[in-house]
Amino acid sequence: MEMNSLQSSLEFDLIEVSPRVVIANYKDCFGVNAAAIILNNFTICVDSLFYPPQGKAFRKIVESKYKLPVKYLFLTHYHGDHVFGMASFKDVEVFGSQELIKNMKRRMKEQWTKDEFEKWKDEEPELAHVISQIEVWLPDYGFKGSHTISDGDLRAEFYHSGGHTGCSAYAYFPAERVLITGDDLASFDWPYISDSTGDPDRWIASFEAMLKLDVDKVVPGHGPVVDKEHILVHLNYIKSLRELVICAISNGTPPEDIQVPEFYKTAEDWQIPRALKHLHNFYSAKSR
Ligand SMILES: [Zn+2]
Repeated sequence: MEMNSLQSSLEFDLIEVSPRVVIANYKDCFGVNAAAIILNNFTICVDSLFYPPQGKAFRKIVESKYKLPVKYLFLTHYHGDHVFGMASFKDVEVFGSQELIKNMKRRMKEQWTKDEFEKWKDEEPELAHVISQIEVWLPDYGFKGSHTISDGDLRAEFYHSGGHTGCSAYAYFPAERVLITGDDLASFDWPYISDSTGDPDRWIASFEAMLKLDVDKVVPGHGPVVDKEHILVHLNYIKSLRELVICAISNGTPPEDIQVPEFYKTAEDWQIPRALKHLHNFYSAKSR
């Protein structure tokens, strides 16, 4: 499908981050990003955008622009805005962290059911024909810890984070010092702390590991491309939330009474209450 035949509401911007990294930035869905890393003989796509026509269009643009086939699709985590575009990647190897397979299996059983997709179509009839195209299947393999794909003198590295979700993972392309974080980072947004499988301690550790990498450009899961300094800002904020919540637990303060420090705006108004509840549960369980 050509870009001009994409419904205008599904259009995305193509941004060249470096000579071998290009991203698709969809302005809806809080500026969700998908990326492509162009190696010598093939391309690795990172996430597939929200809707199948978008994943299809992005793949087509990347393959014709760089004249190389897409060989892999790396999924940063299991949320729909990153995986629902995968229908056009059936012929490539799909991978992510080992935890991704577990999380996707559960979603397929509990939420990604025919009934649920029908309900979604009823709620958004203007998107019904696009929702009908959604196909999800389990990745071909999942890695534990880290994983590398090499192609001649180039390589892409993948690391399990486990922060934003238990299966969250990020990609690093050392040749051009580009980091693709998945939703551990939503630039200029309040962090998406809400997934029950997420782990704030692992999140903090992942940010610390990212900061040790040689990086010029950071592609977040949502929002504009930033530099490493932006990760440090988010790291410090999550650390301050952790301190607040641990302190509240020891004082017997319930999550709804915790005052959070000023930060970037939230995308949704449930974000802060849900984050505080999640953090409160997480550290209460840990202190028992
Ligand atoms: Zn997302």
